[in-house]
Amino acid sequence: MRIAGLEKCSTVDFPGGLAAVLFAPGCNYRCFYCHNRQILGNPPLLDEAEVFRFLKKRAGLLDAVVFSGGEPALQSGLADCIREVRALGYKVKLDTNGSRPEVLRSLLSENLLDYAAMDYKAPFGDYPSITGQDASGVAESLSLLLAGRIPFELRTTVVPMLTETKLKEMAAAVPHNVKWFLQLYRPQQGDEAFLGSLHPYSQGKIETLAEKLQEVRPLVRAR
Ligand code: SF4
Repeated sequence: MRIAGLEKCSTVDFPGGLAAVLFAPGCNYRCFYCHNRQILGNPPLLDEAEVFRFLKKRAGLLDAVVFSGGEPALQSGLADCIREVRALGYKVKLDTNGSRPEVLRSLLSENLLDYAAMDYKAPFGDYPSITGQDASGVAESLSLLLAGRIPFELRTTVVPMLTETKLKEMAAAVPHNVKWFLQLYRPQQGDEAFLGSLHPYSQGKIETLAEKLQEVRPLVRAR
């Protein structure tokens, strides 16, 4: 598998455990707020053998390996890499934008995942304006996670285009019992072109929006 980055020890990427995070290069979306833009094109790659030497050394000290990106489900070597990681005793989490349900189905059917975090970017009709792509596959990926046996979460970066009305529209498309995190949008240079006259929400506003959504979806949280 192609690996563009490695975070050696994260306390926040795997629930209840320490994790190494592998960043896959490339993504089929172009979210204007992406914080991993530097690996979306053709970034320099890490030596996979070296990454595995590191993982072997840390086996038993770290709990999990998180496959993030970019979009890891675009990598043809993903399943093989996960099998190798599991053989070292690690739990595995997949971070995905949900656009490749066929990959998710295959990983779930082989019991290769312990946890998944799926982006839920916007109401499905708004995906093109936020990601540059339509929402193909996202609803199917959500159905697969709902039908599967592993814990999972949805996560939304709350850009200012996502009004309370839009968030309620999004809530209507997910069941009551889904863990859903609203994340603060952190603007970067160049975002002004997308924001126009809109202003980023504060953390307090995200918390207020989460509280409002809890009236209809009790497991929504601000993060
Ligand atoms: S889906 Fe994630 S990695 Fe891909 S462009 Fe959007 S924020 Fe970046």
